[in-house]
Amino acid sequence: MTDMKLFVLDLGSMKMDRSLIVARTNLANIDQPTRPAEFVEFPVSAYLIETSREKVLFDTGCNPQAMGKSGRWPQSFQKSYPYFGNEECQLPNRLRQLGLGPDDIDVVVLSHMHNDHAGCVEFFGRSKLFCHSDEMSAAMRSYALHLDPTPYIWKDIDHWSRRKLDWYLIERDEGDIPLLPGVTILNLGPGHSYGMLGLHVMLKRTGGIILASDALYCAENYRDALNPPGVLIDSLGWEKTAKRIKWLEHGTGSEVWFGHDGRQFSGLKKSTEGYYE
Ligand SMILES: [Zn+2]
Repeated sequence: MTDMKLFVLDLGSMKMDRSLIVARTNLANIDQPTRPAEFVEFPVSAYLIETSREKVLFDTGCNPQAMGKSGRWPQSFQKSYPYFGNEECQLPNRLRQLGLGPDDIDVVVLSHMHNDHAGCVEFFGRSKLFCHSDEMSAAMRSYALHLDPTPYIWKDIDHWSRRKLDWYLIERDEGDIPLLPGVTILNLGPGHSYGMLGLHVMLKRTGGIILASDALYCAENYRDALNPPGVLIDSLGWEKTAKRIKWLEHGTGSEVWFGHDGRQFSGLKKSTEGYYE
């Protein structure tokens, strides 16, 4: 364990159908044959880890130009997955509040390449960017074939793929990657998406934190029973990952921070209030 600070960046919120967060919820039955779907709000976040030598950013949130008539997200996507973030909530501004710019970030780890995690990749022209190799393949395939609307935003990819960025792709069989003393990239493989990465951070006072991102959307996916999300490309892979995180949580006495859990997120200390150490 080393002297490290962990900042929680509040990047606003999104909404989508509840059955995409926890699959097979709100099912109709004989008493409620026309049970309505539910459109629910959830937080969008990123995390900054600061040591005396390096600054590591886990995820980048949505692009500031995601929404609106000429927004980067396709109009139908904006209707199904609207993003709500005022100026303060946009990643470059959250970093600025801490006296930082994108050029100050040494390493960016992308949990995956979906709209609400890889939206600001283009800003990090001076950082090492880590991503799962299978996730990069899926994103580039979506881009090349113009598969919009998918969670891989064509216009975001179009911006960053024109820049020569310093990519480090983590392969399927590579195992976990010790990034810094106390910081390990978890190679979680397929589940919610094609190639998921998590981050395990060991803090001196707080103890271990597992940044699960969308490998686990919320406590309801994980706590009492394993309930997969509706956004899923590999159900067995998802379950394997959830079990792996359980072992890590118990074996290391760490805390799991979910990708989009409103209740958990509201209880976390935000970067405007301080940091975890
Ligand atoms: Zn997400």
